[in-house]
Amino acid sequence: MSKMLWNGSIIDRDSLIDIEDRGYQFGDGIYEVIGVYDGNFFMLEEHLERLERSAKEIKLTLPLHSNDLIKKLKQLIEVNQLKEGIVYLQVTRGTAERGHHFPSNNTTPNLVAYTKLEETMKKEEDNGGIAVLTEDIRWLRCDIKTLNLLPNVLAKQKAVEHQAVEAIFYRGDIITEASSSNVFIVKDGEVYTHPANHYILNGITRRKVISICKDLQIKVNEETFTVQDLFSADEVFVTATKLDVVPILKVDDKIIGTGSPGKVATEIIRAFRNTIEEMIETSNK
Ligand code: PMP
Repeated sequence: MSKMLWNGSIIDRDSLIDIEDRGYQFGDGIYEVIGVYDGNFFMLEEHLERLERSAKEIKLTLPLHSNDLIKKLKQLIEVNQLKEGIVYLQVTRGTAERGHHFPSNNTTPNLVAYTKLEETMKKEEDNGGIAVLTEDIRWLRCDIKTLNLLPNVLAKQKAVEHQAVEAIFYRGDIITEASSSNVFIVKDGEVYTHPANHYILNGITRRKVISICKDLQIKVNEETFTVQDLFSADEVFVTATKLDVVPILKVDDKIIGTGSPGKVATEIIRAFRNTIEEMIETSNK
């Protein structure tokens, strides 16, 4: 039986969560998905910092301090013997009699984390995939990683129905991000991605890709770009935890660039993988 973290304790995963957990009824909570490579968390501090920010923005107090949480998460991947995969971590506003307003102060948040095995650097995605466009109908606080994912669910379902890897959101004329990843385009050797404001989630992978580009002396413009810019880009790629960097070769029925993974994306993928290898080497020392 695999184990999960439930507030401060590691317990069997079959433990029940109450029907009046506010995450279950209102999506009143936040989450993180953290990559694990060779038994090591990748960018754990950044994920926990973002979790703390999300908590603050929805006025939720995390039940564990960051250092305790790190300890418990490490313990969890150890007992579940997770080598490659992800840890899913969510915190809701707790269990209380249903009512839209915040429950009384003595209601404690519920923190749950479990592990999921995912194969190593699955790399059929390096060959890229196709994407569909879909309208961004989400609220205006997409910077908070909340459990309210219905628009993202509907978007991803549309992608699946078109054998696409992602659904890319547009709001008006502007490309924001994708259903569960950030979007980048390349034009004349420069990279463009939507600025990190309330229209997008500031992906941890996005941040790493931006810093890799700087190392590779590729200019990154954190600027908005339009649907037309996307169609006429030399390259398009998306980034997310564990997916890393995936070239997008076609959007709706329009071929992007040459229709095969571009030079810039390929270079970034290589550098990204090196970063992970280095992280594994350092932590195994
Ligand atoms: N945008 C959205 C809407 C997402 O759900 C995700 C995945 N959590 C991302 C971007 C990418 O974020 P990260 O690189 O931190 O996984």
